[in-house]
Amino acid sequence: MDKIAVHGLKSFELAVIESLKKNESSILKRAQNQESQRSIIGTSASARDFGENDVWHNWAGNISFKPAKIFNPKSVQDLKDYVKAAQKDGKKIRCAAEGHTWSSLSMTNDYLVILNNLDKVTVEKRNDGYVVHAEAGAEISQIDEVLENHDPPLTITSMTVLDNVRIGGVVATGCHGARTESRTIVDQVVGLQIVTGDGELHEFSDEINRDEMNAARVSLGLLGIIYRVSLRVEPMYDLRMIDTYPLKSNFNAATLKNLIENSDGLEIFYWPFNSSSKETEKLWIKRWIKSIEPATLSDLQQVFLRVAQSASTKIAHDFYQLILESPEKTPSITNLAGKVKLIERDEVWKAPNAIHYQAGIDNIPCYDLEFAIKADKDFENVVTEIDYVFNKIYDYAKEGKYPINLVVEMRILKSSSAILSNGYDEDPDAIYFFLEVLSITGTPLFNEFTTELAQRWMQKYNALPHWAKSWEYLPNITEYIHDKLGERINKFEAVRVKYDPNNMFFDNESLKRVFYGTK
Ligand SMILES: Cc1cc2nc3c(=O)[nH]c(=O)nc-3n(C[C@H](O)[C@H](O)[C@H](O)COP(=O)(O)OP(=O)(O)OC[C@H]3O[C@@H](n4cnc5c(N)ncnc54)[C@H](O)[C@@H]3O)c2cc1C
Repeated sequence: MDKIAVHGLKSFELAVIESLKKNESSILKRAQNQESQRSIIGTSASARDFGENDVWHNWAGNISFKPAKIFNPKSVQDLKDYVKAAQKDGKKIRCAAEGHTWSSLSMTNDYLVILNNLDKVTVEKRNDGYVVHAEAGAEISQIDEVLENHDPPLTITSMTVLDNVRIGGVVATGCHGARTESRTIVDQVVGLQIVTGDGELHEFSDEINRDEMNAARVSLGLLGIIYRVSLRVEPMYDLRMIDTYPLKSNFNAATLKNLIENSDGLEIFYWPFNSSSKETEKLWIKRWIKSIEPATLSDLQQVFLRVAQSASTKIAHDFYQLILESPEKTPSITNLAGKVKLIERDEVWKAPNAIHYQAGIDNIPCYDLEFAIKADKDFENVVTEIDYVFNKIYDYAKEGKYPINLVVEMRILKSSSAILSNGYDEDPDAIYFFLEVLSITGTPLFNEFTTELAQRWMQKYNALPHWAKSWEYLPNITEYIHDKLGERINKFEAVRVKYDPNNMFFDNESLKRVFYGTK
């Protein structure tokens, strides 16, 4: 039965691609009627306008609330007007974008501003290269498209795997991609325009004031409403994307160091129970290397692949639901999923396609905990922590418990200069590994398991969680973050109080506890 299922599922993406190829001309005709090829394969799970009296909910479904009013602005003037109205009415303001954040950062009882209609994207040529200016509601795919169509074609340097999130949300929460030298995404940001507590638009950049810019880079919405983000971008290039599956037992710090030194980007996954025994378990290593070779797939084939990926993640979602009915079947189900998924690859893709290498990951609602941990010079602690999670999954399994069923994932980046980034470091050469564990929504014991992991990483490494992922359930976490941010809180507060003296944007209980250090 398993063999038949694996064969069927494994050939699924290929079958979809074949059938799409057969219907190529009619698909193309339809695509030409669309604004762009990307628009026919949008993977957005939650994109819709919220009416002013709606209950707002995030993608994961763990946060929902009814603010006094939801605003969908159409101009920067609207943003200024809301702030002035809120000032007059004694109301607070928080923002939301695509809602792909797990934590409660958007919550407010007062005014919620959703900038998804503000999505203009323009390109500027400067003496030292190109900069893209994107209104905060622009989807990453829109930015990619404008850059690809630019003459000469351009690309973002590093980005989230998902391309249907909005640049305002990505920047406000300090997100990251997988390109080591490029640091986190906010480290590519060269300018921000924010409507602050006085209801006026203020410009932030390193040239104007470096300290204020490093506070604004990851602001969590606390300096005001981000109206526009300016990112340094580069001429389009291709990336060779190599997927290999070495035995986990052969993976060590020397191997890792070699991979880091010889790749432009690196992502390491462990897919639980992908082999029949603990000793033969494999890792999935994904590397990106700049290439001058031509792209393996044509643009259209790339579109087909994304359609197929999106469809297969929908099937995977249904498949994983079996785990919730019978958690004891986790090893056989994740093993089967691994057999379908873990296929060697060595292909050349255009940079944006390689960065957003998997469409439809948000078709699988999931839990996600992620911490940034400072790597040792020789990367020994990176391997130690991967081993720790791996052994813990097996320890739990011995007791018939399966809290991790999707993936353990790790990306390695140089440190960030943003004061509130979880990968912040005064040493620009410091390297952080961003380690995360994911399970499908509803998985029993996820919180218990990840609390043990988080407590270890906090005690051993003073590590901080990703602001946008799940962290608020961890015991005493707000006091801990307050303590670990230490002087950085004071630095950020100095900027925050200047731009929001009446705390108009300070309306989130978790952030209040983080900043003031109280329960
Ligand atoms: C399937 C999946 C994959 C992901 N992959 C990655 C990844 O590869 N790397 C990574 O780092 N993260 C990743 N994330 C996390 C995701 O990138 C962040 O949650 C990001 O914030 C989502 O953007 P959004 O448009 O949904 O923003 P939202 O979740 O809607 O907003 C996030 C927060 O940003 C603030 N905000 C938004 N817009 C503004 C504005 N204009 N002004 C002021 N504040 C604002 C608000 O406080 C808001 O609460 C992933 C999430 C999911 C669900």
